Amino acid sequence: MDQPNRTGPRIGLGFDLHRLEEGRPCRLGGITLDHPTGPAGHSDGDAVLHAITDALLGAAGLDDIGTLFPDTDAAHKNKDSAVFIEAAVQAIQKEGYRIGNVDIVIATEGPRIAPHRAAMRERLAELLGIQSNAVNVKGKTLEGMGALAGGTGVAVQAIAMLMPGR
Ligand code: MG
Repeated sequence: MDQPNRTGPRIGLGFDLHRLEEGRPCRLGGITLDHPTGPAGHSDGDAVLHAITDALLGAAGLDDIGTLFPDTDAAHKNKDSAVFIEAAVQAIQKEGYRIGNVDIVIATEGPRIAPHRAAMRERLAELLGIQSNAVNVKGKTLEGMGALAGGTGVAVQAIAMLMPGR
């Protein structure tokens, strides 16, 4: 396969969806929210970190999170999803890129996102090795519509811009 063109910026899109279940820690955006339900999953279920991981990998033309970290691998059970971000950051750096910025939409009628935006941005910036003004988070409700109505799940979109260089 041809190598990505490193002379210009690259964008990548990530999406993830998890059910919210009673008694699961509510891990989103690398922090724990005080909420009675949390994302189910093989790892800690942090759909924000999973979507960002796929956006980074996608931008660099690399494999996706499911290929690199199969959920059949017992080593990833209940794992802090920060490890996926760390691996993705290393992988894009190895390809000759650095992160320009990351933008995220969290759609859920589970936990309210707005009160946690600042803390999430701080934690994501730390994980990504960028300034907190280069990572943004928005929460959206679903207006009571569709399969995620009533807080049954969380859907996340993430977009990442990569720049050539260190
Ligand atoms: Mg996931």
